[in-house]
Amino acid sequence: MAQQRTLSLLGATGSIGASTLDLVRRNREAFRVVALTANCQAKELAALAREFEAQVAVVADESCLPDLREALAGTGIEAAGGAQALVEAASRPADIVVAAIVGCAGLAPTMAAIEQGRVVALANKEALVSAGDVMTAAVRAHGTTLLPVDSEHNAIFQCLAGNDPAHVRAITLTASGGPFRDWPADRLAHATPAEAVKHPNWSMGAKISVDSATMMNKGLEFIEAFHLFPVGVERLRIIVHPQSIVHSMVEYRDGSTLAQLGPSDMRVPIASALAWPERMDTPCTPLDLAAIGELTFRAPDEVRFPATRVAREAVVHGGAAPATLNAVNEVAVAAFLAGQIAFTRIVAYAEDILSRRLPPAPASLDEVIAVDRDARAMAREAMEPAH
Ligand code: NDP
Repeated sequence: MAQQRTLSLLGATGSIGASTLDLVRRNREAFRVVALTANCQAKELAALAREFEAQVAVVADESCLPDLREALAGTGIEAAGGAQALVEAASRPADIVVAAIVGCAGLAPTMAAIEQGRVVALANKEALVSAGDVMTAAVRAHGTTLLPVDSEHNAIFQCLAGNDPAHVRAITLTASGGPFRDWPADRLAHATPAEAVKHPNWSMGAKISVDSATMMNKGLEFIEAFHLFPVGVERLRIIVHPQSIVHSMVEYRDGSTLAQLGPSDMRVPIASALAWPERMDTPCTPLDLAAIGELTFRAPDEVRFPATRVAREAVVHGGAAPATLNAVNEVAVAAFLAGQIAFTRIVAYAEDILSRRLPPAPASLDEVIAVDRDARAMAREAMEPAH
């Protein structure tokens, strides 16, 4: 890359955070780190802030600030804590902000980064799913470049480059199918958290791993694609591709289909966003298609895995439905990971709450946050033992 870029990383202690910092570590001259954030892993965050000589380190959970302060004492690195400090860190001028917090907790800081009008590399899909039109309007209003980091959306972004979206016949998101793709329906109810987080192809945080197992990850990605690539819901497809080599495809009106292929390593799409519009090296093992031998594809099974249908219905319904879906899913995944509900109940709760009367479409960040909060309350109430 020609010039050094300043970079902030929201969610530095997570899986995407680690992959991003691995690339920065290998290209120290190319980046200068402004802000690094975490929720409460203060010691880990402090170690990263020291290593990368960040200007500021922020923990979202204010109760973890004393630990962060202690770990950064004498370094000259600012330490801050709490929701407002997180938003302030995201607002600091930086050439690129990587939004890699998990869940709707990342929404306010991601919006703050968008309002800077520079480049936001978005991994935090839940923020876009929840805020939808509010976020895309902010992107337009501030002239921000939103680069998708999710491997599928990054693939689509690459396949669309240089083409007029008006010529797109279909966009197909590929899905690995998750660890339970070959399980019979009656076994799914007994799936354990340990089984659900063991993804066959990708190494990821716990929440997205469970989302992959239910296929809600693909449902959220469907909604994410709807906002990032406005070709209309009827042109968006999902196909199961167990090898996770083809990361997504764009079919054009002349019958040409462009696909992006790569190893199942998030450093590839992250590098594509970090270097955009240039390219940078990654240490990832190049694809050996002869060794892989076969790439297979099959239609999704929405009877065993209804999440993609539920997500499609939510985006067609519009309004408060996608934010409600995301919030209920976050609560249900946390309950499943805590051993409180069965695996198959995660999507069942989402479908049940979406069938209720929903609030009007949120028109501002505060209204999205209110929809999210109310949906979480409904989900928690529905999960109380009496139900
Ligand atoms: P992880 O759980 O590994 O990391 C989450 C990060 O967010 C951590 O830094 C964590 O801090 C921070 N965090 C958690 N809760 C809060 C909160 N309430 N407020 C502020 N910060 C918080 O997640 P992943 O890296 O797997 O995923 C991050 C995002 O990227 C998700 O939206 C996911 O869907 C998306 N994504 C991930 C992929 C992957 O391969 N992992 C692939 C594609 C998309 P702490 O460590 O202190 O808890």
